[in-house]
Amino acid sequence: MNKNKTPVSVDDSLNPLAILESTDFRIVAEDAPVMLWLTNAEGKVVFTNLKWKKFISGSSDHAPLASDAWVKALHPDDFDPCMKTFSDAFVDHTSFQMEYRLRRADGQYRYVLDTGEPYLNKDGKFAGFIGSSSDVTDRKNHEDQLRLSQLELTQHNKEMQFINELNSYLQVCLSLDETHPIIEHYAKKIFADYSGVLYLFDEAHSMVETAARWGDDQSLSQPTISPDDCWGLRQGKVHVVDGADDVIVCNHIHGQCKDGYVCAPVIAQGEMIGVLTVTLGSSNVSNENGKLRTSKESRTRLIAMAADNLAMALVSLKLREALRNRSVRDPLTKLFNRRYLEETLARELSNGKRSDQHLGFIMIDIDHFKQYNDTHGHDAGDFVLVEIAELLRSKLRSGDIACRFGGEELVLVMPGASKEIAAMRAESMRAAIEQHEFVYQGKNLNGVTASLGVSEYPHDADTSVGLMKAADTALYRAKAAGRNQVMLAE
Ligand code: GH3
Ligand code: MG
Ligand code: MG
Repeated sequence: MNKNKTPVSVDDSLNPLAILESTDFRIVAEDAPVMLWLTNAEGKVVFTNLKWKKFISGSSDHAPLASDAWVKALHPDDFDPCMKTFSDAFVDHTSFQMEYRLRRADGQYRYVLDTGEPYLNKDGKFAGFIGSSSDVTDRKNHEDQLRLSQLELTQHNKEMQFINELNSYLQVCLSLDETHPIIEHYAKKIFADYSGVLYLFDEAHSMVETAARWGDDQSLSQPTISPDDCWGLRQGKVHVVDGADDVIVCNHIHGQCKDGYVCAPVIAQGEMIGVLTVTLGSSNVSNENGKLRTSKESRTRLIAMAADNLAMALVSLKLREALRNRSVRDPLTKLFNRRYLEETLARELSNGKRSDQHLGFIMIDIDHFKQYNDTHGHDAGDFVLVEIAELLRSKLRSGDIACRFGGEELVLVMPGASKEIAAMRAESMRAAIEQHEFVYQGKNLNGVTASLGVSEYPHDADTSVGLMKAADTALYRAKAAGRNQVMLAE
């Protein structure tokens, strides 16, 4: 709406009211191809032409409209600003232009551009406004469409930029766990305003667990789901639920997801890794408070694309992780191998020296294992090794490193642990092995015991080799003293 100070001076013969008195001119004004109107000095509408009357009432009747017809047809949201512009113009006697929505005879609100000019009577006194109105809805819609398209393009570019950034981080992640907070961080940017959750299959590939979650939609709050709970996972393709009325709703959705959601399976190279579920929000494309709500279709496309990107990045990460594990893990027990132990022990020791911390070292050797193999078979022996490795793993604390040193010898490195702590943990491990039930192929193969030797930095040695040697000597003493016991390095 703009205003400028150009009151129209009209000489006697050009006074609009006077002109309208002329029958000829009234006919011209009535049939003019634009909507014309005229008010008196008090703002009361005293003339509207046929085009105007037709707009409001739909009839070609020449009878005058009620003087408040305009006010009644104004869109409620546009009422106040319109009235302000109109009354300001009446106070200042200045021309004005304003755009507002006006209800047409068919009930549809149309955008109207109104231009009003003040006119003066023969005494030079303000006598009212003369104006024209045009329906600018089509132009306005085109402009809105163009603005939305531009916004959508900008938004799309931004989303692509976030997806690229996410990819570049995922490419240098070392483990799947490391990816979760990064995915969550970028999901909040890519799917701002929508809630979502990324489920990834667990190691056994039996359940699908939350890896990342964002937004506050409670319908996506299930922490772990079964693959059968999700139509997207079952079909191996994108499943779209349009709204609360949709009947094919996944089991993992809590209650109602009123605006619908999309489940895009995360699949790469034929491997199903998980599923990305994101809410859809309302279906209207709109631009509210400068924020763009894109169409459901384009949101669905974005979700599917993000799932594909995640799939590729995560599959390649899993491959890298598997390769890395192969080089540092023992294939039977899945504990770290001796090479890894030697590397990390040296590093942990130098950390310990720098930060003035103890480091506990336990060497475990299964008692009479050769005999055990001979009695029950090598496979039963393998089974015992795996079970003991699992026992060890279940007792790990943060920072501990468990390794298979070789054969039936396992090692536990405990950065920060004093000799006393290390001895206690060795005893707890010994007792756990002694009490464990080894059931192999339905047979109870109990009676497995182990001997343990404990050493500690700085008391027993200050090098890796020295620590291993000290623990090994203690272990030898445990064997000599009758096995199934813990000995500390002297
Ligand atoms: P000790 O109580 O003195 O330790 O007696 P031991 O029989 O355990 O000791 P020894 O060092 O003589 O024999 C170790 C045996 O461990 C020899 C081998 O058959 C067995 N062993 C080593 N690696 C494996 C493995 O990967 N699987 C199985 N089943 N047995 C293994
Ligand atoms: Mg041995
Ligand atoms: Mg042994």
